[in-house]
Amino acid sequence: MSDSRCLACGADAGRLVLVARDRLVPRPETFPVRGCSRCGSWTVDLESHPRVPPEWMHGYYEYHDPAHRSRVRAIAVAVSRALRYAANPAQDRYWRRLEALRADPLVFPHPLLDIGCGNGELMLRLRGRGWSVKGIEPGKSAEAARARGLEVEVVGIEQASFPDESFGLVIANHVLEHLEAPSQAVERIFRWLKPGGVALVRLPVCDSVAARVFGRFWSQLDAPRHRVLFSRRALQSLLAGSGLAIEERFSDAYGFGIWPSFAYMCGMSLGSVPDAFLRSLNLLFTPLAAVTNLLGTGDQVTIIARRPRRMASPTSSA
Ligand SMILES: [Zn+2]
Repeated sequence: MSDSRCLACGADAGRLVLVARDRLVPRPETFPVRGCSRCGSWTVDLESHPRVPPEWMHGYYEYHDPAHRSRVRAIAVAVSRALRYAANPAQDRYWRRLEALRADPLVFPHPLLDIGCGNGELMLRLRGRGWSVKGIEPGKSAEAARARGLEVEVVGIEQASFPDESFGLVIANHVLEHLEAPSQAVERIFRWLKPGGVALVRLPVCDSVAARVFGRFWSQLDAPRHRVLFSRRALQSLLAGSGLAIEERFSDAYGFGIWPSFAYMCGMSLGSVPDAFLRSLNLLFTPLAAVTNLLGTGDQVTIIARRPRRMASPTSSA
């Protein structure tokens, strides 16, 4: 047994579930992953690597930075997206929900904050839809976002500082699973929201078919960049525990939880395989992701939670 704590709920981190390895940027180091008996989340135990070098943490994001896109490639990407959306309607639900929030006077036209905004792709899209957008991003991709004329601070959520009640909408897309203290992050999100404002939280979840089937090869495990893989109920209680009211929760997994896992299982590293092949694999696995979404067992979940209109922030004195 270990002394480490479950990063989702604070209980003992629990028994060893599997031993993870960085498969995106293949390295020999191993990381025990422990499963919490109280909330069912998995915590990546970095005890034996207390000082993870920063260069281990950024490979994923560099991998995702768009390279120079030719017109043919842009068309291929658009066609493949259209096919994926047709085969897996849940994949588009996130965007449709964002669109619907524009009709919510407690949310829009107040400013929105995109936490971990990367190169600003979502911010740009939302700005184009009339939102007033701000972002924070600790990684190198912040430079790309700034070069696009976006207002982005180069900080993590732990260092960011905004006046209370600044935003009508706070987006945390694949953020909480990277943090040592997700509960503190959620408290900040609560404080930054205006009363009636909405938090849109999306992340990979371990109580999913892909996590169970692929185990240590599951691509969204992504150790050591991911520190905690929440269960659905753990994420829900974390948000509710901060005072947010859960309005909606849905599985919106896409092929990404499946095809790279399959590639890892076959001993491939993503960088060594042609992009077109990976894109085809993604398409191939999309119907499978759609089925897991219908069954509520997709490996990605979105939660929409609202700060109640009349309630003092539990942490406003902090
Ligand atoms: Zn737990």
